[in-house]
Amino acid sequence: MTITPLAPDVLPDRHELGRLYRSRLSKGRATLGEMFGGHVEVASEGAWVTTSNGRRFLNCGGYGVFLTGARHPAVIRRVAEQLHTHPVATRIFLEPQAALAADALVSVVPEGLSRVHFAGSGAEAVETAIKLARTRGRTRLVATHGGYHGKTMGALTLTGKSLFQDPFRPLLPDTTHVPYGDAEALRDVLARIPGEGCVFVEPVQGEAGVVIPPAGYLTQVAALCAEFGALLVLDEIQTGLGRLGTWWGADAEGVVPDILLVGKGLSGGVVPVSAVVATPAAFKAFDQDPYLHTSTFSGVPLAMAAARGAIEAIKDNDLVTRSRTLGEEILTRLRTIVVGHFGEVVREVRGRGLMLGIEFAEPGPAGDLLIELIQQGVIANHSLNSHLVLRLTPPAVLDSTDLEFLYEAMDRACRTQAARYTPTSGGV
Ligand code: PLP
Repeated sequence: MTITPLAPDVLPDRHELGRLYRSRLSKGRATLGEMFGGHVEVASEGAWVTTSNGRRFLNCGGYGVFLTGARHPAVIRRVAEQLHTHPVATRIFLEPQAALAADALVSVVPEGLSRVHFAGSGAEAVETAIKLARTRGRTRLVATHGGYHGKTMGALTLTGKSLFQDPFRPLLPDTTHVPYGDAEALRDVLARIPGEGCVFVEPVQGEAGVVIPPAGYLTQVAALCAEFGALLVLDEIQTGLGRLGTWWGADAEGVVPDILLVGKGLSGGVVPVSAVVATPAAFKAFDQDPYLHTSTFSGVPLAMAAARGAIEAIKDNDLVTRSRTLGEEILTRLRTIVVGHFGEVVREVRGRGLMLGIEFAEPGPAGDLLIELIQQGVIANHSLNSHLVLRLTPPAVLDSTDLEFLYEAMDRACRTQAARYTPTSGGV
């Protein structure tokens, strides 16, 4: 299918767009857009985003969505087909795309997880898991400090950051946060609530700033859940589908949760969709009563086509392996570049697969480097739950030219910014 870009005269110019943002969306969002250079994105393909003035940016941000890059042909093919045949279902008849997407997802998740509920956003998937837990009598929630699970009321209760929570209290009752990576702390909590707990954990914390737990942590968490009769919910909304160089973060330790949460990359970067994949036991209540937990657009065929396309793209192009090998290479090069310029101002450059974080020892450089990188043509992300960490979640479709562009841009950006923080910086 040929894509015709929107003609410039049907789009508002930059100033008009700013006015519309300020008057119709959010003044704060308009200001943020200005802070990030005032660019207006209008098109995307693969690893690249194009702005209204024709400039191209390498997209290493997107909050973890673009594992397959933008508009991957496999996703576009399925979505276009669906758009032109049956984009939204009646929800009275059976509809093939939902069943096929569920089957495709089950084919790539750990064995034992076989029931799927689709939703639209990550937070909605989290809400669904909270409700499933309640149907199993697990009303006491346990999450981790710094963890991020979204911002709807239930999900926000689990998200470990008071800045986002405080304006909305009271949140859900009976929720405890424990330090991430600390199995003993989890044991203390679960031992007090036998048979009532539900633990939410990310295999690597994304928004906390790419926090990698000690080896064996997930295995210990799973064992503690089994010992104290708690449900285990693995939130792989950001880490899943190959982002970490394995299909799931859980694979690294062979852990099978009761409930697995999927989002972001499942959209293929084309139609928003998330999913809850559960064991038959955890899913029992929804199996029995299909009206117990519904939403008008759950399993909408257009999103189901995107999910199928995304899974096909990942499988057929072996993007999981590519994520691992690319990730290792990028990590090594970034470490050399960033530490070479910033020296001790950098605390750590770390990552797994294509989830990479640069942690600074002081507030300031992460934000400054983010803005400087944009000037150099690279989009990265800050971390919602840590102001010290700059995060990169590049697509697994980067080629060698893209990689060279990234390294050169990073080198220039670090050189410029490091001079402000390390007077002796000479670079590499
Ligand atoms: N869970 C994790 C691990 C996430 O990283 C996010 C979003 O960043 C969410 C849940 C919430 O997803 P959404 O923003 O789609 O609601």
